[in-house]
Amino acid sequence: ITSVMQFDRGDLTYIFSVANEMRSMVRTVGATDLLKGYVLANLFYEPSTRTSSSFIAAMERLGGSVIPIHGVQYSSVSKGESLPDTIRTLECYADVIVLRHPEVGASEVAARYASKPVISAGDGVGEHPTQGLLDLYTIFSELGTVDGLHVALIGDLKNGRTVHSLARLLRLYETRLTFVSPDTLRLPGDVKGQLLDAGREVRECAAVEDIITDADVLYVTRVQKERFGDMRDYEAVKDCYTITTELMSRAKEHMALMHPLPRVGEIQYDVDADPRAAYFRQMENGMYIRMALLAAVLGKA
Ligand code: ASP
Repeated sequence: ITSVMQFDRGDLTYIFSVANEMRSMVRTVGATDLLKGYVLANLFYEPSTRTSSSFIAAMERLGGSVIPIHGVQYSSVSKGESLPDTIRTLECYADVIVLRHPEVGASEVAARYASKPVISAGDGVGEHPTQGLLDLYTIFSELGTVDGLHVALIGDLKNGRTVHSLARLLRLYETRLTFVSPDTLRLPGDVKGQLLDAGREVRECAAVEDIITDADVLYVTRVQKERFGDMRDYEAVKDCYTITTELMSRAKEHMALMHPLPRVGEIQYDVDADPRAAYFRQMENGMYIRMALLAAVLGKA
């Protein structure tokens, strides 16, 4: 799983139905032995809290085990080992590899060299396919549908890989999309082109106020500090949007406020009590989606 472009609506319906089953299973009995005897290599070249721990929890709740490599500085990567060699090594011990890497396309490279399934956990500023899936799954669970919705994606649309994956998935549904960002952080042209080719209605604007009363989903993102070469450019845009209770008072009664997290000021803490604040449920959903994906790639779904 290296890009959401590999999925059609049928695949998504299937993955979400398996995720629903995983959710009921976890809520009723907590764990199963579906993947007993299977090993996951969790290889992270960039920091992670939710993605890495939810993959570990997913594998363990399915009865499997995990080789966690989260500080590549302590592995042979720091001795100069190449990604293909690291992948070839890990697949001797594991049945599936989850990879987070700072370079766009790294998971494609890994998948080319691996004979075991590779799941991208984020490729630099490229894609974050499992996050896109859990985001879409969250929209379904919060609002019951995706067709017909107005989805507004806000913040660092240029560097935010979760935005790239979610936007590409939304092209498969009858959605209206508004991209809200400062001029320097606009959605990349290739993603916009894919949406337009799919017949989606795409708008771009700079102010949340323009869409707050009409959006069914507000998908807020962090300005990706680590992608800026010049910190002065980051400083200029870092506080561009803040969701406050006052702003939420103008939003629809039935809508979802989402964020892939971590947040660094984009959503004020007092918004958390609002029932439309879906970001904590969203991150819980990540585990069910990753359980579904692990079971699927290992032929056990
Ligand atoms: N956790 C997400 C990612 O890894 C979002 C973020 O870092 O802003 O892309």
